[in-house]
Amino acid sequence: MIDSFGRSITYLRLSVTELCDLRCRYCMPEEGVCKLRHDQMLTEEEMLRAVCAASKLGITKVRVTGGEPLTKPNILSICRGIAQAPGIQDTAITTNGTRLPELAGPLRKAGIRRVNISLDTLDPEKYAYITRRGQLQNALNGLRAALDAGFDQVKINAVLIGGFNEDEIPALAELTQRWPVDVRFIELMPMAGNTGFGKESYIPVSRVLQRLPEAKAENEEGVAKMYRLPGARGRLGLISPLSQHFCASCNRIRLTADGKLKPCLHSAEEISIKGLNDEDMLAQMKKAILSKPRCHKALSAESRSQTARNMNQIGG
Ligand code: SAM
Ligand code: SF4
Repeated sequence: MIDSFGRSITYLRLSVTELCDLRCRYCMPEEGVCKLRHDQMLTEEEMLRAVCAASKLGITKVRVTGGEPLTKPNILSICRGIAQAPGIQDTAITTNGTRLPELAGPLRKAGIRRVNISLDTLDPEKYAYITRRGQLQNALNGLRAALDAGFDQVKINAVLIGGFNEDEIPALAELTQRWPVDVRFIELMPMAGNTGFGKESYIPVSRVLQRLPEAKAENEEGVAKMYRLPGARGRLGLISPLSQHFCASCNRIRLTADGKLKPCLHSAEEISIKGLNDEDMLAQMKKAILSKPRCHKALSAESRSQTARNMNQIGG
C-alpha cells in the first residue's frame, strides 16, 4: 500500500515480547518490565492474523523482534506461521543471540531466512557492563551457531556509543574479514528512558569511515549505507537515524507486543488492534499506514524521541 507521501509500505516489524534476558542500558530499565500485563499482549493467533492483514495490504517482509524474541516460548511456532503466511516472501529475526546455540537450526527450519545479532563490543567486561548482565561468550556462541545454520544472511548490529565502543570500530569491522557477516553500526537513539547517556555518547556513524578510510562504498541497502574493507567477506553498514535520517524512504510499520501499530518509531501515535476481528484489524492497519508522518522531529541528545516507550517496548 502507498502511504500519504507516496512511499510504498512493504515491511512489518513485529515485536513478539517486551521481555528480555538482558538489560542493555540504552534499551530498557534495569528492573525490566511489568509481567502482569500478560492478558494485554497479542496472542500468537492475533499476531498471525495481523501478518495476514498486513500481507493483504502489500507487506512482503516481516522482521520478528522484541524485547528478546527468543525468550518467547512459542517463538518457533510464531516464526513458522509468519513464514507460511500467504504473500510473505521474507521472514527475518533480530536477536541478542544468547539462545541461538539451541535455536538457530530450528529457526532456519521454521522458515527464518535472515538473522541480525546485536553485539556492541568484543570485550567481555564491556559486554557485561552495557547489557547489565550478559556474557559475551553466549552471544559469540550464538553467532557461530547462526553461521553454521545456513541462513541466507547473518548481520551484526552494533550501537555506536562515544566513549564506550568507538575504539572498537576496527575490531568489530574485522569480523567482516573473518566471517561472511555484515557489521552494521547504528547511531545511539535518545529514547524516553535512556537518559543516562551524555552528549558525548551520541556520535555520528561517519566516525567509522574516519577510522577505516580504506572502506569502499557499495550500494545502499534499506536504511544502511554499505561499505566493504578490501578483501572482506562481509560488508560494513552505516545507519544514521540522527545525523541523516531516512524518513523519505521509510517503508515500514511496527506492531508492538501489546498490539499497538506504530506508524512511526519516534512518534507517540499508536493504533490498537488487540481483540479485533480480521476486518477491523485490516481497517486499523490501513489507518496506520495512511497516518505515517512525512518525517519525525530531528533527534539529538537534547531532542529525544517523542514516543514514551523504551526500545524493548517497541521492537527496535
Ligand atoms: N533483543 C533483540 C536484540 O537486542 O537484537 C531485539 C530487540 S532490540 C530492541 C533491537 C535492536 O534495537 C538492537 O540491535 C538494539 O541494539 C537496538 N537498540 C535498542 N535501543 C537502541 C537505542 N536507544 N538506539 C539505537 N539502537 C537501539
Ligand atoms: Fe534486550 Fe535487545 Fe534491548 Fe538489549 S537491545 S535489552 S538484548 S531487547
